[in-house]
Amino acid sequence: MNTEPSDARRKEGAYVVIECPEKIPCDPCVNACPNEAIAIKGSMIELPEVDYERCNGCLVCIPRCPGLAIFVIDETPNDHSIVYIPYEFLPRPQKGDTGIGLDREGKERCEVKILKVLDSKKFDHCAVVGFSVPKELANEIRFIKLKQ
Ligand code: SF4
Ligand code: SF4
Repeated sequence: MNTEPSDARRKEGAYVVIECPEKIPCDPCVNACPNEAIAIKGSMIELPEVDYERCNGCLVCIPRCPGLAIFVIDETPNDHSIVYIPYEFLPRPQKGDTGIGLDREGKERCEVKILKVLDSKKFDHCAVVGFSVPKELANEIRFIKLKQ
C-alpha cells in the first residue's frame, strides 16, 4: 500500500491519486473500487491508501468521493498528460472544449482541452471530466475554468 505511485508505475498507465484533506469518518472510496485497490487501515478516520498494483485507473472511484478528493492521472501520452477530475457544475463541459487549468490554490496555470466527459445518473450529480495538460503539470492541475 502506498499514497503515491512509483515512477515505474506512473509510466505504465493511468493511476489514482487520493488527496483526502483530513482525517474524517468517511470510506465510500473503499467500496467503490472494483479492484480492491483502496483500503483504510484500522479506524475509519484514517486516510485511505492505494495498492498501485491493483489500481488500473478505471475512474470509477472519482464520482463516489463526497469530498471531491479523488483524481486519476495518465502520463502515458507522448506530448501531454491527462487529468481526470470530479465535476459537479452545470452545464457540463463537452469534448473539444478548451479552458484554463487551475492548481490546488486556484491559480491559473495552463491551457487545457477537454478529452472525455463521463456522466451518469449513477454518479449522483458528479461527472468525470478528463482534459489534457502539459506533462510537467500533471500533478499540479486539479480544476478547470471553461472559456465562455
Ligand atoms: S481508478 Fe479504478 S482501480 Fe483505481 S482506485 Fe479508482 S476505482 Fe480502483
Ligand atoms: S471517500 Fe473521499 S473523502 Fe472519503 S475517505 Fe475516501 S477519498 Fe477521503
